Amino acid sequence: MKLYNTLTRTKDDFKPRFDGKVSMYTCGPTVYHYAHIGNLRSYIMEDVLEKYFRYVGYDVKRVMNITDVGHLSSDGDTGDDKMLKGAKRENKTVMEIAKFYTDAFFADCKKLNIKMPDVVEPATSCIDEFIRVISSLIEKGYAYEAGGNIYFDTSKLKKYYVFNDFTEEDLAVGVREGVEEDSNKRNKADFVLWFTKSKFDNQELKWESPWGTGYPGWHIECSCISMKNLGDYLDIHCGGIDNAFPHHTNEIAQSEAYLGHEWCNYWFHVHHLNTDGGKMSKSKGEFLTVSLLEEKGYDPLVYRFFCLQSHYRKSLVFSYENLDNAAAAYEKLTAKIASILDGSGDVDNAKFEELKKGFTGAMDNDLNTALAVTAVYDVLKADTNNATKLALIKDFDRVLSIGLIEAAEKQKAKTAEAAQDDIPEEVKALVEQRKAARKEKNFALADELRDKIAEMGYVITETREGTKISRK
Ligand code: AMP
Ligand code: ZN
Repeated sequence: MKLYNTLTRTKDDFKPRFDGKVSMYTCGPTVYHYAHIGNLRSYIMEDVLEKYFRYVGYDVKRVMNITDVGHLSSDGDTGDDKMLKGAKRENKTVMEIAKFYTDAFFADCKKLNIKMPDVVEPATSCIDEFIRVISSLIEKGYAYEAGGNIYFDTSKLKKYYVFNDFTEEDLAVGVREGVEEDSNKRNKADFVLWFTKSKFDNQELKWESPWGTGYPGWHIECSCISMKNLGDYLDIHCGGIDNAFPHHTNEIAQSEAYLGHEWCNYWFHVHHLNTDGGKMSKSKGEFLTVSLLEEKGYDPLVYRFFCLQSHYRKSLVFSYENLDNAAAAYEKLTAKIASILDGSGDVDNAKFEELKKGFTGAMDNDLNTALAVTAVYDVLKADTNNATKLALIKDFDRVLSIGLIEAAEKQKAKTAEAAQDDIPEEVKALVEQRKAARKEKNFALADELRDKIAEMGYVITETREGTKISRK
C-alpha cells in the first residue's frame, strides 16, 4: 500500500515497524465546542485509513487524545486556553463543558460510522506523565525555565522544521494580531511545555509541579499520550493539515529529544474543508455541525459519502449544492443496490477476487476513496450474479462505512410501502375481509376472497411484517 508521507513528501510504501501490527495515533478534538463538519472530514478519512489497515489484515491499535486543557487560542502560545473561553461563554466549569462536548463529539462520530479508537485519553488524566517527560527534557538540556514557564529549546535540535514547508517566518501567522509575542522565548520557534506563572492566572485547571502550580502546553499532550499507550515507536500519526505546524513539528521535536531516536515514520494529513469564506474553523464561531445537517434533512452518511468522493489531500469546498449532488448520487446508488437485494445465486469466488481488485487498487494508491466508490458502481455493472455483487458491496462497505446495504433495504421497504398506498380501497377492503375469515378459520371464504382479489389484478403475500398486496 502506498501512502503520502508528509515527512518525506513522497508516496511511500507503508510498512509498519513490527510485522502485522500498526500503531496509530490521532490528534483528538479540543472539546470547547461542537466538532464542525471540517473537523469531522479529518476524522472520517482517518477512520477509512484505520479500517483499510484492518481490512488488509493488520492488527491496529489506535489512540486518540481529548484536548481538555492547554490549547491556547493562538498556536504561538498566546491568548487564553480555549477551554476557559468555552466555559466562560456557557457559564459552566471547564470540566462540565469538556464532558458535554466530548460526548457530543462521539455522538457525531457514531452518526458518521466513525469507529471509536481503541484508547481515548483526556489530557487531564495524564498530568503525571507530562511532568515526568518534561523533567527528563530539562535534565537532558532540551528545556529551560523562563518567566516561570518551561520552554522547549528548539536551537538544541539539528533540524526543527522537519516538514520543510515551514520556516521561522511562518511562525508569525500563528500569532494573532493584537496578542503580544512571548518575550521569555530564547528562540522564536521555542514552545511552552508547562505554563506556570504568567498572565494566565485566571486558568481554572491547575496542578502542582516541580516548577510551581500550573498546567501543560498542548503539544506535550499528544507526545506523552502516544508514548504511554503505543510505546517508543509510532507507525503513523494523523491529523488535519493545520496541525502539521507547529503542533506536529513540536511533537516530533520533544518526542525525539526525549527518546533519543526517531519516533514516527509516517505522517498522514487531511486537507481542509473550506467554505466560500475559507477554512471552516471553530474559533470563528460560525460553522456547520452534523446536527445542523440533520435538521436540514440530510442523512449524516450522505456527508460521509460526500467526503469520500474526493481525495483527502485536496481541499474540499462545502456548499449545499455540492451536498445535494452527493445526496442524489447516494440515493441513486442505493436504489440500484436495492434492486439486487434478493442476492440470487452463489458467490462466484473468482469473480469476487477479480472485482475486489478495483477497490483495493484504488485504496492502495494513497487511499483514493473516490475511485474506491467507483469500484462499487463497477460491481453493479459487472457480469456476475446478485449474490457476488452483494458480497462485494458488503465487503467494500466494511471500509467505506456508508451504510450501503442498510440504505438499500430502507429504500426497498419505502418503495413497497409506497406501492401499498396506491392500492384501491376496494382491494384493501377485500384483504381486510380475508384477514377476518382466516382468523375465524373460514379458509374456504379466505380462498374465495383471494381469487376475487386476483381477478382485480392484485396478489397477496404473507410476510413477517404482515400481509403485502402487490400488482400481478
Ligand atoms: P481541534 O478540535 O481544533 O483540535 O481540531 C480537530 C481536528 O480537526 C484536527 O486534526 C484539525 O487539524 C482538524 N481540522 C480543523 N479544521 C479543519 C477543517 N476545516 N477541515 C479539516 N480538518 C480540520
Ligand atoms: Zn495532537
